[in-house]
Amino acid sequence: MRTGLIYHPDFLKHDTGHHPENKLRLTKTLEYLDKIGLLNKLANIPFDTANEKDLELIHSREQIETVKNAYSQGINLLDPDTPICEKSFSIALLAVGGVLKAVKEAAEGKLKNAFCLVRPPGHHSTPSRSMGFCLFNNVAIAARYLQKNLDHQRILIIDWDAHHGNGTQEAFYNDPSVLYFSTHHYPFYPGTGSSEEKGSKSGFGYNINVPLSSGSGDKEYVSAFEKILVPAAENFKPEFILISAGFDAHIEDPLGGMAVTDEGFKTLTEITLDIADKYCNNKIVSVLEGGYNLKTLPKTIAAHLEVLI
Ligand SMILES: [Zn+2]
Repeated sequence: MRTGLIYHPDFLKHDTGHHPENKLRLTKTLEYLDKIGLLNKLANIPFDTANEKDLELIHSREQIETVKNAYSQGINLLDPDTPICEKSFSIALLAVGGVLKAVKEAAEGKLKNAFCLVRPPGHHSTPSRSMGFCLFNNVAIAARYLQKNLDHQRILIIDWDAHHGNGTQEAFYNDPSVLYFSTHHYPFYPGTGSSEEKGSKSGFGYNINVPLSSGSGDKEYVSAFEKILVPAAENFKPEFILISAGFDAHIEDPLGGMAVTDEGFKTLTEITLDIADKYCNNKIVSVLEGGYNLKTLPKTIAAHLEVLI
C-alpha cells in the first residue's frame, strides 16, 4: 500500500494576488517532490468536490452563505487577512472534497496513509466565521465525516502549525470524541491557545494546548509530543489521526516565529506514526495548513512525506 496524495490544479485558482498564502506554495512543492523522485512514490487519489451538506458538518448555514455570496456582493475580504477571488468558494469546497476522499480511502484501508496538498487552509475557520487565510475547516469537517459516515468515533487531531487552531478547538470544545492537541507560538495570532483552555462540559480534558514561547524549536516540540501527546493518546486510544500539518513553525518561515528544523518535523511525524501504529492501524491523514517560505516549505514537506512513505 502506498501513501496517497491529494492535489488538484484548481487549487491554484484561489488567486488573491500578493499574499503569503499563494499558489506557489503548492507548485514549488510539486516541482521539488518531482525533482527528488518522491512524487512518483505517491498514489495520486482522484476526488470530487465536497457539497454544502459536508460543510454543514461543522459550519453554520449563515457562514456558508456568507462565503458563497461574498464575492458577487462586492466583498473581497472575509477578514483583514483573508482575501477571496471569484473562484474561492468553489476551490474551498474542492479542498474539503479532497480531504474527505483521503479519509475515506484511509479509513477503508486502501491507503497506507495520505497527505493533502490543499489550499486554502482550514484550522482558523470556526463553526461560524472564516478567518486567518482559512475559508472552511478541512480537518474539522473530516473528523465529523469520519464519525458520521465512516464509523470511526475517536478522532485525534494533531495541530503543529505555528498558530493555534482556534477554529478546530471551538468546533470540538464540548466534545470528548475528538481529542485536539496543538503546539503553537503563544501569545500570538489568533490569541487563543492557552493551556487553561481544556475543553468544557463532557469535552473537558479533550482539548490540549501546548503554548510555546517565541523561537521554540525541535527540543521544545519533541518534548511536548513525548511528554504530553503520547500519554494523552494512550488514554484516548484514537481510531483515526488527522494532522493539521502547518509548516510555519519552521526556522526559516517568515510568519511563524519558531525554530523547528526539517529533522524536527521528521521526528514529530515519527512520533505520530508510532501512535497510529499502536492504536489505529496506521490510519493517518495529514493536511497542509500554513508554511510560507517558498524555498524551505517544499523541503520540509518532503521530509514529512519521507517518514509517511
Ligand atoms: Zn499558521
